[in-house]
Amino acid sequence: MSEKTIFKRIIDKEIPADIVYEDDLCLAFKDIAPKAPTHVLIIPKKEIATVDDLADEDAALIGHLWMVIRDVARQLGLEEGYRVIVNCKEAGGQEVPHLHYHLLGGRKMTWPPG
Ligand code: IMP
Repeated sequence: MSEKTIFKRIIDKEIPADIVYEDDLCLAFKDIAPKAPTHVLIIPKKEIATVDDLADEDAALIGHLWMVIRDVARQLGLEEGYRVIVNCKEAGGQEVPHLHYHLLGGRKMTWPPG
């Protein structure tokens, strides 16, 4: 069996995380190396490695994740605006092979990202 990712270990509560939201389908917690005053990761509890690994049946789950992103952004006071990023695979800058959304806010974002 392949080794658990760090995010699966957070889901299973084997390692601590600063959790800001949790339900049956997903988890949102603070990034350990924040790139903005607010930097939260929103992840599905289902093990999906990358965007490329999404199945058609995951459509409702992905819709739910976006509603959670909206609610967490409100909860954290990001009414001025924020950025949501998903890195896909190595060339896309993805390091942890468990689908995750970066929610960044609390500063003015620049464009394009690096
Ligand atoms: P990626 O580069 O899109 O895969 O983003 C992975 C993110 O996970 C990075 O921003 C890391 O700082 C973050 N990260 C890695 N390990 C942990 C952890 O144990 N707790 C919280 N965030 C983590």
